[in-house]
Amino acid sequence: MCARRSEHCQNLLTGYTIFVPKINNKKIFLDYAASASPNPGSIHELGIIAKKKLEGARKEVSGVLGSRAEEIIFTSGGTEGNNLAIQGIIYLTPSPLSLIRRGVGERSLPHIVTTNIEHPSVLETCKLLQIRKLAQISIVPVEANGIVDPRKIKKEIKKNTVLVSIMYANNEIGTIQPLREIAKEIRHYRKQNKTNYPYLHTDAVQAVNYLDLNVERLGVDMLTLSGSKIKGAGKVGVLYKRKSVPLVNIFGGGDQEGGLRPGTENLAEILKFSGALTLVQKNKEKETKRLTKLRDYFLRVLDTRLSGVQHLMNGDLENRLPNNVNITFPKIPSDLLVIELSARGIMASSKSACKSSSSEGSYVIKALRPDADPEIGGLRFSLGTDTKKQDINYTIESLSKILTKLKKWYY
Ligand SMILES: *Cc1c(COP(=O)(O)O)cnc(C)c1O
Repeated sequence: MCARRSEHCQNLLTGYTIFVPKINNKKIFLDYAASASPNPGSIHELGIIAKKKLEGARKEVSGVLGSRAEEIIFTSGGTEGNNLAIQGIIYLTPSPLSLIRRGVGERSLPHIVTTNIEHPSVLETCKLLQIRKLAQISIVPVEANGIVDPRKIKKEIKKNTVLVSIMYANNEIGTIQPLREIAKEIRHYRKQNKTNYPYLHTDAVQAVNYLDLNVERLGVDMLTLSGSKIKGAGKVGVLYKRKSVPLVNIFGGGDQEGGLRPGTENLAEILKFSGALTLVQKNKEKETKRLTKLRDYFLRVLDTRLSGVQHLMNGDLENRLPNNVNITFPKIPSDLLVIELSARGIMASSKSACKSSSSEGSYVIKALRPDADPEIGGLRFSLGTDTKKQDINYTIESLSKILTKLKKWYY
């Protein structure tokens, strides 16, 4: 919408009235070119209703994050949100002028700090920017427990660092990163160097169901969410962007979502998303307690049942999502275990679904166990809303039968 049109919409929304002689209550939809169903960009009555619903959803999401409504950008999902956060900062800041002003010099590229276990939508995006000579990147390796040391992040921050992107919780091993401490280091750096940079972005896609999402408490400037990891949410996502972050759009198009995410909003899915997010927020504490108990039971029983088979737990056992169990059996390929479990009706995973078509093993497990055979990987069980104790018991029974069978082959 152009500025004039949105001003007009605003008038309609705030009570400016036009006299319309109504013939009957029938509505005739002659705006199929705008969108085959009412769309929030239209200024007719149905468009305004759609717009109100969209703004309601935005408010609902901002309530959960503790942000302002206008800091919420609806996207198509987590991948797009992460791309917008990273590329949107880079496309603005390589401007030599801004770098010279910051005393960096004309030829320095903007610099990003991230870790080696980020989701591909962060890690590959950073690598692409580096290959295309649009950015420099520093990839900080996590410790053997799958957690990054905040001091190592701080050490990588330079004059031209514009962004630090650290995931909240990992999708394969469930480890939770010390975001608050990283935020503290960054604030300290900014203060000492009298600069607004770097900004802190977090991919919170896996954290949404169990962890605190309040952006003020976390101290983050941008945060990505995805409906694909929230039960009942639509396939849309959210990027929270603090008002002061100088982000630019990465797609050319209309001025939806504050100009940062052009294209007709997916209203039906956005409404499902905000509803599901509210529900998840309401049940968070209870569900976290329930799953922590269930997961610990799973681990305890597994440990006794698997005493004859060498197995290693992946990722820190304290600072991890309550629903995640990830085990490496040093001699048995995880892929084979997934197939064996599947034949017994149990759906587990051997690496992130996003990379499962590549022939390499998991880069996350490799980051934790550089000396292990990359083919072996890790077996991931992720519990959720519908997981019951009897499911866990059946899984333990099945897994120990499978391992008894496979032991003969692999040991
Ligand atoms: C699934 C996932 C994404 C990608 O989200 P999509 O909505 O599938 O694009 C990003 N980050 C993490 C940590 C994820 O688990």
